Amino acid sequence: MSIVVANWKMNGNVFLVKQFVHRLNEIEAISKIIVCPPAALLGNFENFKHFIGAQNCFYEESGAFTGENSPKLLKELGCGYVLLGHSERRAIFHESDEMICQKWRAAVKQSLQPIICVGEKLEERGNWKDVLGHQLKNYVGHCDQNDTIFAYEPVWSIGTGIVPSASELGAVVSFLKEKLPRSALLYGGSVNAKNAGEIMGIKGVDGVLVGGASLQIDEFENIIKMVS
Ligand code: PEP
Repeated sequence: MSIVVANWKMNGNVFLVKQFVHRLNEIEAISKIIVCPPAALLGNFENFKHFIGAQNCFYEESGAFTGENSPKLLKELGCGYVLLGHSERRAIFHESDEMICQKWRAAVKQSLQPIICVGEKLEERGNWKDVLGHQLKNYVGHCDQNDTIFAYEPVWSIGTGIVPSASELGAVVSFLKEKLPRSALLYGGSVNAKNAGEIMGIKGVDGVLVGGASLQIDEFENIIKMVS
């Protein structure tokens, strides 16, 4: 089954969330749709007929960690999934591969399915094999791949409107699939309704992770149609 993940980077407008939830509930999708809002908005998904995920979690199960959300809490709030290692978390919040791996362990323990994001920066573009190999070293051979989804998100593509060519993406996807043959693999980075069909046509791509375009509800519905 193909997968469509929405990374809703919202800074307000609870009313809009309620509208989006209503619209998405009207969709009969063949794909699995996973919406990941900021944790503060998780309470607005009552009767949502698709899946919800968190954008991050903490690596400790319990304790005094002001401001953090444990996997257990996210699970109780209805999350089935959690994005981990998004490039914004890595760059702005200085999350290391080790910290992301700790979060991955904590999430799996609570049966929260991790979606691990990996991807090279613009200056690393010629060196993507080494970068991705490094980012994946804690999972290849260590994780039950069925439990973990991976998302290839080249940092230079996120929010820029630039997507890798089909041949570039094909090369990366076959490299990743060789390392993680049983995991679902998503592509993320400037996905829209125009390019989603071509991206899904690349062998090994199981779905898409959508940021900006997932907040334009008509566009997002069209992406879902292209992916299904
Ligand atoms: C993202 O935020 O993970 C993302 C892929 O964003 P965009 O679709 O806007 O490039």
